Amino acid sequence: MKVCKRCRKKEADVILSAVRFCDSCFIEYFERQVQRAIDGEKLGVRMFSRDVRILMAVSGGKDSMTLWNVLDDLGYETCGLHIDLGIDEYSEASRAVVESFAASKNLDLIVVDLRKEFGKSLMELAVRDACSACGLVKRYLMNKVAYEEGFSVLATGHTLDDECATLLGNLTRWNLEFLQRQHPILESTHPKLVRKVKPLFRISDEETAVYARIKQLDFVREKCPLASGATSLSYKKALNELERRHPGLKKAFYLGFLKNKALFGEQEGFELKECEACGMPTANVGLCAFCKLLERSKRRHGEGEQN
Ligand code: AMP
Ligand code: ZN
Repeated sequence: MKVCKRCRKKEADVILSAVRFCDSCFIEYFERQVQRAIDGEKLGVRMFSRDVRILMAVSGGKDSMTLWNVLDDLGYETCGLHIDLGIDEYSEASRAVVESFAASKNLDLIVVDLRKEFGKSLMELAVRDACSACGLVKRYLMNKVAYEEGFSVLATGHTLDDECATLLGNLTRWNLEFLQRQHPILESTHPKLVRKVKPLFRISDEETAVYARIKQLDFVREKCPLASGATSLSYKKALNELERRHPGLKKAFYLGFLKNKALFGEQEGFELKECEACGMPTANVGLCAFCKLLERSKRRHGEGEQN
């Protein structure tokens, strides 16, 4: 029998590349990793303290449902935010998971329904690339809701795997601007931009899967039907192959990046303007990217009616 390397008593049910734990020690380990991230270890600044209410962006997937559950178990006060993108059964199933979790735990939840609020599903908004439109819509709405509802911090379920895949992508393309920006804490640079944090940056996808299993969390297992996700998936796969041969590689890769981030230089500060239509911050003159997307789709719709 392989024993848990922590309590050295119970059988190790959880055997991962870098850890071997029994279920209860795994949960303790997991929560401690999240707490260390929240407390700002290796970051130099705390993500949030116990007296702030956190807006938790939940997709209904394994990682964000896990984070919502951990934050609640650790005693943080949270309100969920779910964006219903109107992607057929996929969005229906995601919303149902989130709503039933909130109800069962008696947690507040804000749902933004794209079709109700803006009259369009994601497919009707996206011109070519559904994934980039989706990213844009989610970033915009998460920040807008956080700002309008008076939250000072927004948490997302990005994991170590997400961060490593993004880092590898930024490095292979030598995208200095993105390398300067990439961090588990994105500070606010405008009064209408809410601080964003990623408390799972020390936790791998494999670990959230184990956590969700032990805690018997319900989550949506299907992948988004619109997502190609090819690039980030192949980066994740390659990194996992390396991790298999060299346990601890992903963490070393990402924590090393954080330590050496200064090598990539400082991000240039540029002044943000406010969108003429919605008033939210934007680098553009005139309309922000979200309002442009909306305008374009309205125009397309109008043209469609005339034909
Ligand atoms: P993704 O961009 O799908 O990899 O998701 C990254 C993070 O964004 C998730 O962990 C969630 O915190 C958040 N997120 C993604 N989709 C949604 C959604 N539909 N509603 C609210 N938050 C979301
Ligand atoms: Zn706008």
